[in-house]
Amino acid sequence: MLTKLSNRIYYLPNNTDTDRPALGYIAGNQYALMIDAGNSSKHVQLFTQQLAHANLAYPNFVGITHWHWDHTYGLSSIDAVSIACRLTNAELIKMSKWCWDDEAMHQRLQDGSDIEFCSDMIIKEYPNRKEICIKPADIVFEDELKLDLGGITCEIKRIGGPHSEDSVIYYITEEKTVFLGDCTYEDLYYGNLFYRDKLKTLIDYLKTLDFEICIQGHCIHQSKKALLQDLENELAQSV
Ligand SMILES: [Zn+2]
Repeated sequence: MLTKLSNRIYYLPNNTDTDRPALGYIAGNQYALMIDAGNSSKHVQLFTQQLAHANLAYPNFVGITHWHWDHTYGLSSIDAVSIACRLTNAELIKMSKWCWDDEAMHQRLQDGSDIEFCSDMIIKEYPNRKEICIKPADIVFEDELKLDLGGITCEIKRIGGPHSEDSVIYYITEEKTVFLGDCTYEDLYYGNLFYRDKLKTLIDYLKTLDFEICIQGHCIHQSKKALLQDLENELAQSV
């Protein structure tokens, strides 16, 4: 079910069955923005059905938080202008050439371009992997982009961090709300080199950002205080 955070901000919560992340929705007076594209056309369909049910307009834009499959493979099923940072888009272009037969998937596990957890989840989400179609973004930015949706602004900013170098956050200024994608999590693909330093830098940045509510990729929304408490605990436990 779509969760309403305000008259302007909604999200569809994550689902761990096939590792579907939370999908965000920002309703401006002129344009609507979807945050993250979901992991498949079925995921997108669930989201757009929920929007229709809540009498919310189909999104005009869809912004990606980072390149991982669960946040991007739904892109080809969304009839909206897509936005990604350059680093994310480079990965989308690379993945758009991937084959999905058993042999190609096995080969990617061998050479490290994919990981077992994601590979297993892709098999679960896609009974027919011929349906997988990875599409690069329409609008590509380097580090920052500001979207005026009409009466509400979204500041899109690449912050990198421990999870992935291309991690981008979507900060809705007027509502003091930020969609973080997976930027606070560990890096499942390339290991946790400099994890502590990256996490510390991220915590320092988030402390300075003026927000009250945040939505992470794979859990329900939290207050700034609760998020920072979790991250400080994580930092204290890391070596
Ligand atoms: Zn991720």
